[in-house]
Amino acid sequence: MINSEFTVVETKQETHDVESIKLYLGNKFDFKPGQYMIMELDVEDAENGNTRPLSIASSPTEDFLLFSTKISQSFFKQKLDSLKAGDRVKLKGPMGVFVLKEDAKEIVFLGGGIGITPFRSMIKYATDKKLQIKMTLIYSNRAKKDIVYFDDFNEMERQNPNFKMVNTLTDDTTDWKGKTGRISEAMIKEFSSEKTLFYICGPPGMVDALSNLLKSMNVPQQDIRIEKFAGY
Ligand SMILES: Cc1cc2nc3c(=O)[nH]c(=O)nc-3n(C[C@H](O)[C@H](O)[C@H](O)COP(=O)(O)OP(=O)(O)OC[C@H]3O[C@@H](n4cnc5c(N)ncnc54)[C@H](O)[C@@H]3O)c2cc1C
Repeated sequence: MINSEFTVVETKQETHDVESIKLYLGNKFDFKPGQYMIMELDVEDAENGNTRPLSIASSPTEDFLLFSTKISQSFFKQKLDSLKAGDRVKLKGPMGVFVLKEDAKEIVFLGGGIGITPFRSMIKYATDKKLQIKMTLIYSNRAKKDIVYFDDFNEMERQNPNFKMVNTLTDDTTDWKGKTGRISEAMIKEFSSEKTLFYICGPPGMVDALSNLLKSMNVPQQDIRIEKFAGY
């Protein structure tokens, strides 16, 4: 467990409402793909405080730390949105057990919106380490403009024949030739088998709905791993 300051090297507007910050990883520390850290920023917010748990979106195989957040009106997010290269942020962690099972045979990742962050870390790690896991990401968003890391996942698909990204859009499907609607039983069946391990991440309502759907499809509890992004 570390508790120290890191320097921002780059910020990036990932989508219209998602901001990424890349931090310099001088003193490497161990973390597992999928874990999160507690970020502390210099803000006064008596109601919601100056810390938030944020998943590490980079892989331990990369030489930087990446966090991506959906920007809201909260003091914390407004401060995060204003960060620039050279600024410092405090991080505590890593924490969490929502981590990649490195010896899994088949994984289906079910994600919604900003709930994609731990999956970027896991899929990038499996790709860089050439792990022999058949992986499918089923990623649900309202519109094409909401898809986070589209280019990153395209590149991982190119590098890793065992990985496939499947996007589904629920609202604005103008000029969209891919899947539409919420993640459904039919979509899950299309990309899974009896051997599949499922990971679900997103807002609590979505995680509950998908985990209930999997249970209704007789997927054993031990094959369902979840991370709820409380606060959405
Ligand atoms: C393990 C974990 C990993 C996460 N990773 C990410 C990430 O990678 N990217 C990202 O954008 N977000 C992530 N989140 C969510 C993030 O921590 C914030 O809660 C969220 O971004 C909302 O923050 P905010 O400042 O916009 O709103 P807030 O000021 O926090 O307010 C939003 C509303 O939610 C309520 N709320 C806040 N926190 C909680 C809580 N823990 N439980 C119940 N209610 C709460 C507040 O009281 C308020 O009503 C993660 C959460 C968890 C638990």
